[in-house]
Amino acid sequence: MAKKNTLHCSFCGRAREEVKILIAGQESHICENCIESARDIVEQEMTMLGEAMPSKNKAASNKKLSVRKPIEIKKFLDDYIIGQDDAKKILAVAVYNHYKRITQKPKLNDDDIEIEKSNIIMVGETGTGKTLLAKTIAKMLNVPFCIVDATVFTEAGYVGEDVESMLTRLLQNCNYDVEAAQHGIVFIDEIDKIARRADNPSITRDVSGEGVQQGLLKMLEGTDVLVPPQGGRKHPDQKMIQVNTSNILFICGGAFDGINQVIARRINTNAIGFNVNKELQNYQRENLLQFVNAQDIKTFGLIPELLGRLPIITYLNPLDEATLKCILTQPKNCLVKQFTKLFDIEDIQLHIEDAVLDFVVEKALEYKLGARGLRSILETILNDAMFELPSAKETSFTVTVEYAKSMFDKSKLSMLKVA
Ligand code: ADP
Repeated sequence: MAKKNTLHCSFCGRAREEVKILIAGQESHICENCIESARDIVEQEMTMLGEAMPSKNKAASNKKLSVRKPIEIKKFLDDYIIGQDDAKKILAVAVYNHYKRITQKPKLNDDDIEIEKSNIIMVGETGTGKTLLAKTIAKMLNVPFCIVDATVFTEAGYVGEDVESMLTRLLQNCNYDVEAAQHGIVFIDEIDKIARRADNPSITRDVSGEGVQQGLLKMLEGTDVLVPPQGGRKHPDQKMIQVNTSNILFICGGAFDGINQVIARRINTNAIGFNVNKELQNYQRENLLQFVNAQDIKTFGLIPELLGRLPIITYLNPLDEATLKCILTQPKNCLVKQFTKLFDIEDIQLHIEDAVLDFVVEKALEYKLGARGLRSILETILNDAMFELPSAKETSFTVTVEYAKSMFDKSKLSMLKVA
């Protein structure tokens, strides 16, 4: 216990010299540690009661959204994401229009024209940058953002999560600042996994597919949703937080495995009677995803009502060798820059030979690891060096192809090759 007559925190008993800040009350004092703990307790209690906690960042949420012009948005995205120009342009315009719609002031002679919401759907193989695009846009706008997986949702009454719980995630990410959450961005991943399946064995309900799509309709369009503060299932006694989704931008992503065949079938049908030259046919066959439209996604199994609420459709190209190499070296926080920085902190100059980068890309393609694999391969190659060098006297380290190959070959990763 702190001694009498010396200033101390009345809650934890620490003496003045043991704390950084001591705030005086009428007959007592409180230190910065106890203030933090008290805030956590209040936050927990408020959440349990379903009350929104006044945000520490209230000023941030109230500040006017400053929306950059589409060209600037694309430029920003270029710093972080390689290629995918079509998707970037479409997203830049959609996001610009969406936030313009939110921030526009009603004019005196308003003509009753209401700009509709522009939720987006992105089609592209896994690991091509769909999440990264959505995340980067949210970062640029400085709005709350969350990623949810469509596969965890089930229709109300079944084991799983209600669709409302995605808003819980959004609220949690902005410290329950409802105002901020209401103009945030929700990225729904694996939207293709809730497609209606023709081979569904249940004749009554499709628990994982169509029911969830129905559940999403109102939320995507814009409505008041009662959100359980802790997520999970709604509970009759639980206090809910009301969130209006009209200004939340929903971006959906999915790989839509097999959609190429759907597109091919449609294009071939449409091409009957036209003289389509061979070159064009070949080009089309290789780049079918660029022709994806709502009809294809409907054929794949998303219900038309849901598609109506996702009016903007775009696609992402598969990543080829050249793109993977650029991903390693070009983005603002690319892997090579990250590792260089890590070594730099140890006062070691890291140099990675260009051929090593080719080797990493080659292995990522060979082992079908995609862009996500680049990190694990590079990590495997550099792990021994990162283990030993901090204790050594070296001031520089060069990674040669021979070194990279030997490190990779003795790693567990090299055993993972898929046939
Ligand atoms: P998806 O959501 O399409 O499955 P992600 O956006 O999660 O893929 O991408 C996985 C990782 O791969 C990203 O975190 C990023 O490091 C890298 N990546 C993928 N595509 C790109 C790209 N076009 N430019 C830069 N990095 C990329």
